[in-house]
Amino acid sequence: MKIIVTGGAGFIGSAVIRHIIAHTNWHVINLDKLTYAGNLDSIGVAAYDARYSLARIDILDQEAVRSLLEREQPGAIMHLAAESHVDRSIDGPSAFIDTNITGTYRLLQEALNYWSGLNEPKKSAFRFHHVSTDEVFGSLGEIGLFREETPYRPNSPYSASKAASDHLVRSWHHTFGLPVVVTNCSNNYGPCQFPEKLIPLMIVRALEGKSLPLYGKGLNIRDWLFVDDHVRALLSVLQNGQLGQTYNIGGNAERRNIDIVESLCGLLDEMSPRANRLLYNELITFVTDRPGHDLRYAIDATKIREELSWQPQETFETGLRKTVQWYLDNETWWRRVLSGAYRGERLGLAG
Ligand code: NAD
Repeated sequence: MKIIVTGGAGFIGSAVIRHIIAHTNWHVINLDKLTYAGNLDSIGVAAYDARYSLARIDILDQEAVRSLLEREQPGAIMHLAAESHVDRSIDGPSAFIDTNITGTYRLLQEALNYWSGLNEPKKSAFRFHHVSTDEVFGSLGEIGLFREETPYRPNSPYSASKAASDHLVRSWHHTFGLPVVVTNCSNNYGPCQFPEKLIPLMIVRALEGKSLPLYGKGLNIRDWLFVDDHVRALLSVLQNGQLGQTYNIGGNAERRNIDIVESLCGLLDEMSPRANRLLYNELITFVTDRPGHDLRYAIDATKIREELSWQPQETFETGLRKTVQWYLDNETWWRRVLSGAYRGERLGLAG
């Protein structure tokens, strides 16, 4: 099996690649443009495996994608490449429209073109797996859960662009027969997450003794899943999911942002105490809320649990502890991100 993973230098994509190299005999091609969010450090030792290769390509570049598909003849494409940060989508939606919508469209066209030319049994075995988010469903009130048939009501430019890509993928299946599966997952956390997202941002800022800024009153609720549990779910859907179906993935771990940051502070007090008996939660501050901030997301993962026997291996507590430990053990990784060195930027040259 040879698989192309788009966005393989990102947070989740790199976890997918590390997992594939460690636990399968597949060959994996990392198709990534290497935006600010792409970090080859995150591939780790898997980067030195003969079954891994990097194709530095923008998914908007149809010709480059076409020649890669012709050359590599993959059995599957797992599509994770995206602009993924909600705050950035508010400040500058353009890249989200380009990559998430137009980029997905062009990738679909090339996948369709390639798949149409395949002979059996490769044709029937081929899969295009589109990786998406629960944010496409909009915001929940105090009760209720997102199910696969929940209507789409995206509220941010990010979620709207992901919703559009989900619809394109669905239609390429329905209209052209492209063999697709789609997954919509809740908020992920874990090793190698760019420190602009809530959990790594708070860990890194706390370790640097900086304020821990929470939007509004910190009462927004997300349903959290440890990234390796997401990866296991993705591989399960890729291999055993029904064609044309979507699967919700979630950890059944709803937490308010304030509770998460309090938990992180408690873990850090234990695992990396501050000097002079200061407590980390003294660093918490409240800042003006994000515009249009969705109140609550929560996933009903019954379908993937019942059909594919997937369930998370980590609880929120075990996953959060592992995550804090990882950031403590991998200061070089996040310092290289903060300094820009991970992108090969030359720093410290200003006169
Ligand atoms: P990320 O921002 O960490 O990584 C995105 C990767 O895509 C980067 O390596 C980047 O270089 C690459 N990329 C961006 N634009 C590209 C382009 N035009 N061509 C090729 N590569 C490009 O994202 P992530 O958090 O790992 O998320 C991966 C996917 O999973 C996204 O599609 C996201 O919508 C989805 N998702 C994320 C979460 C989450 O909590 N992080 C939850 C559910 C779904």
